[in-house]
Amino acid sequence: MATSVERPEAPRLTAADAERVARECFGVCGEARALDSYVDQNFRVEDEDSRRVWVLKIAHAGEDPGALALQQEILTGLNDVLPGLAPRLRPAGQDALGAEIQGPDGQTHHAWMVEFLGGPLLADAPQRDALTWHGLGELLAQLHLAMEACPLSPAAREAAGRWHRWDLSHAAWTVGRLPASLSASECAQLRFHQAQFLGHVRPRLAALPAGLTHHDANDRNLLVRPGGGPARVAHVFDFGDMVHGPRVFDLAIAAAYAVLGSDQPEAVLQGLAAGYHSILPLMPQELEVLAPALAMRLVVSATVAAEDRVADPDNAYLSIHQAPLWDCLQILANWDHEAIAAGLQSATGLEPRTQTPAARPPLSRDQAAGLRAKHVGPSLSLSYSEPLEIAAGRGTYLFDKRGRAYLDCVNNVCHVGHCHPHVVAAGQAQMARLNTNTRYLHDNLGTYAERLAGLLPDPLEVVYLVNSGSEANELALRIARAATGRHNVLAVEAGYHGHTQALIDISHYKHGGKGGAGTPDWVRLVPLPDPYRGRYRADSPDPLDVRGDEALGQRYAVHVAEAAAGFEPAAMIAEALIGCGGQVVPPPGWLRSAFEHARAAGAVCIADEVQVGFGRIGSHLWAFEAQGAVPDIVTLGKPIGNGHPMAAVVTTRALADAFDNGMEYFATFGGNPVSCATGMAVLDVIEAEDLRENAARAGDQLIQGFRELAANHPAFQGRFGTVRGMGLYLGVEVVTDSESREPDAAFLAQLIDRAKDRGVLLSADGPQNNVLKIKPPMVFSEADARLLLDVLAAD
Ligand code: PMP
Repeated sequence: MATSVERPEAPRLTAADAERVARECFGVCGEARALDSYVDQNFRVEDEDSRRVWVLKIAHAGEDPGALALQQEILTGLNDVLPGLAPRLRPAGQDALGAEIQGPDGQTHHAWMVEFLGGPLLADAPQRDALTWHGLGELLAQLHLAMEACPLSPAAREAAGRWHRWDLSHAAWTVGRLPASLSASECAQLRFHQAQFLGHVRPRLAALPAGLTHHDANDRNLLVRPGGGPARVAHVFDFGDMVHGPRVFDLAIAAAYAVLGSDQPEAVLQGLAAGYHSILPLMPQELEVLAPALAMRLVVSATVAAEDRVADPDNAYLSIHQAPLWDCLQILANWDHEAIAAGLQSATGLEPRTQTPAARPPLSRDQAAGLRAKHVGPSLSLSYSEPLEIAAGRGTYLFDKRGRAYLDCVNNVCHVGHCHPHVVAAGQAQMARLNTNTRYLHDNLGTYAERLAGLLPDPLEVVYLVNSGSEANELALRIARAATGRHNVLAVEAGYHGHTQALIDISHYKHGGKGGAGTPDWVRLVPLPDPYRGRYRADSPDPLDVRGDEALGQRYAVHVAEAAAGFEPAAMIAEALIGCGGQVVPPPGWLRSAFEHARAAGAVCIADEVQVGFGRIGSHLWAFEAQGAVPDIVTLGKPIGNGHPMAAVVTTRALADAFDNGMEYFATFGGNPVSCATGMAVLDVIEAEDLRENAARAGDQLIQGFRELAANHPAFQGRFGTVRGMGLYLGVEVVTDSESREPDAAFLAQLIDRAKDRGVLLSADGPQNNVLKIKPPMVFSEADARLLLDVLAAD
């Protein structure tokens, strides 16, 4: 898709040129007068004989012929289907709708002619009442029905799918491209509405009823009936932006201009929707996108106007809607999406969204905080000093109770996106049919286990399903101990493996931190293989990109042999990228080498993929593969059920047989049919949506963006020590200066708080809490990445 926003040069015909074209090509003799226009030229030409008035349109030289054909065919068709609504086309001849002419610029331009519809513009109508908006809504619905009925050539059809910068479906091009001429507060306003669009509208695009849309029903393209009184829109013109897309966008666009300067914007929106709905029924999801789509149209308008003003500072038409736009964006930012959608539902008579039988009236923020403080353990912390009240999620976005969207860069559990419809449907369907334990034969358990094992390398083939990452790691330890007859464990400094007592004992991140009792005697730690801050460092010419090499990996791995000596370890457990250690990417081959040393000492090797599995690192499905290692046991969790509580242990046949020592293994919930259906649906989505590849792409974009911020942005120069990670599992070391590498947790905390206020959720981790962690849902888009970088770069 082209995303260039270059503005083409308008043709430069004089009035005399236009009169000649009108006469010679269209048989209309009369005086020509230039009209306002955007990138084309329009002339009003009054026929001396008939006194009828025409508009001679001269397309700019780069205009797509298909787009012109689309307009001409639609105007021709509309004149048959719904005469009077839109201007008639005056063909150039029997077989030609328009004519090619030579312009004074030496370029060939397409000239065509349409009827000049008299009547005042809606923009100039002094009186607008409820019926104005109801009537405009009706007119747009009638227009949609009529356009559906117009025959179109293949070229015109193809043109309806072209990209142009006003196409609201693709409005995300504006993200991260805010013109330098805008003030910081103007940029902040645009960013806010961009996030709302990305969160509320973009994920729903495919589900919205679509058709050919006019895409520019602004109040200067609408004419009202003459004669005074409240405005009644009678005609629509300028079909140059027509594009195939969600039909509700025409309502949103009309509303965007209708609400400018209005003191009752909600009523205007409701009137438009009700009018439209009376002719062409709207669906609830169309009502839900209306307000954020409306705001996004204004964002596109502000962005385009600012860009074009740079190229053409004297063209007043470019800024015609800009003055009231900023006030309006401010008002829209305070709208409560939930309340607006509910208002639209009652205005249209659509049923409010069904509430679950258990739904209770929502608590106030104070009530929710009070209940939590009273009845929930105090060691369970909340994010942010002003905690968010998150009420819904979709894709990469979370929404608070008012419907404000936040880009979620924290949740690597909702791997395929919050509330992915395929996963939700699979879980719901199975929950409605059967949920029971694994003591009966059920298709789901075997088919899911087979599919999961099929994704792991040989000899990993036996699957145990449990409920959490902790349970998976507990079981992995039990298997290793049963198989070796030993007890001791090797683990990595700063590692985290779960919240049970045994796992706290092997998790240095916990037992070595606040409230921890230190490393027990049955655990030995090996150094965190961190090439930036660790005991051995990579000698890198670029501190932003510190990876180390195989030799460094082996130097770290030797500590495993050292720790194992005389210790008789049952197991070594490690993550291939160490999450709580600060998103540390070990030097190449470290895990392979570490496991070799551990095996040589008789230990079973456990790869904890709870955080990093299922394609998160982009290059591989499993992070241990990137390290060239093959474990004896793999533990899986978090993303496996996209938030449904499930986890897995996958091991070899030999270890599974050794574990089968007579004691029955049973977990009440593990492997139940609902969990298996959910897990299966997650795998479907990872594959169908190429999420591993997406993680690789988005991760590269973010790494590059962060390195650019570190190199060029005054606030971050020297403050981002290194930018590391793979795919969508990234970490940025925040330091006081790149020389000393002194961790700066306070600076990072400020950054995270500011980003939250601007609609982006981030988190900090690492032993010194100075590593910015980025691990969003894997459906993270290019526009999401641009928004994140743009928000961080903002003043
Ligand atoms: N292993 C790792 C690497 C983890 O990050 C976590 C959770 N953060 C766990 C295990 C434990 O998973 P759970 O919280 O599901 O018990």
